[in-house]
Amino acid sequence: MDSDRRQFLGRCGAVVTGVAAPFALPRHALQESHASTRTRAGTRHERFMWLAIEQARRNPQWPFGAVIVDHRTGEVLGSGVNTGADSPVLHGEVVAMNDYVHRQGNQGWADTTLYTTGEPCSMCMSAMAWANLRRVVWASSIDEIRRTEINQIALSAREVAASARSFYTPELLLGGVLSDHTNRLFEEAQRLRQNLPDAPPAKPS
Ligand SMILES: [Zn+2]
Repeated sequence: MDSDRRQFLGRCGAVVTGVAAPFALPRHALQESHASTRTRAGTRHERFMWLAIEQARRNPQWPFGAVIVDHRTGEVLGSGVNTGADSPVLHGEVVAMNDYVHRQGNQGWADTTLYTTGEPCSMCMSAMAWANLRRVVWASSIDEIRRTEINQIALSAREVAASARSFYTPELLLGGVLSDHTNRLFEEAQRLRQNLPDAPPAKPS
């Protein structure tokens, strides 16, 4: 565990619980939403989430964007946006993972963090478990996305990760980073879809 993560999660835990617990990382610290505090690690998460948002803006009607970052160096190693019009499996996270494999090969996942504008669906979270991609940060939750009339399978990313516990141990599952911004993005996308003359049926992330 690097010092930034200790600091960030420690503070996050302190905010959530109201007590100072800088290094006694409770289990639920992995399960709480992003605190609004501007810690160094928190700012770093936001910086990479802005890159995911930049990807998402490439598909204004389905703004699911993702980037994969080397969490030691901060280098962006893969990126993508939902291209579900081409294939039902090409969610933003999968497109970013495919881009990563194209650029880096199918290796090195354990040193990466994936940032995505929407909580990973069960398909994408499963793909990350298979890859052993253990650090995942998202903005809008599945419930928030569903409110904008986008279909979602009713399994949270944490539930999928927990179901893979026999072979998969995530280090960081953090939601809510810049969700104020992405929630507006999804609301705007809903308006765009509604204004289309032949609006397609709701698609998942
Ligand atoms: Zn997905």
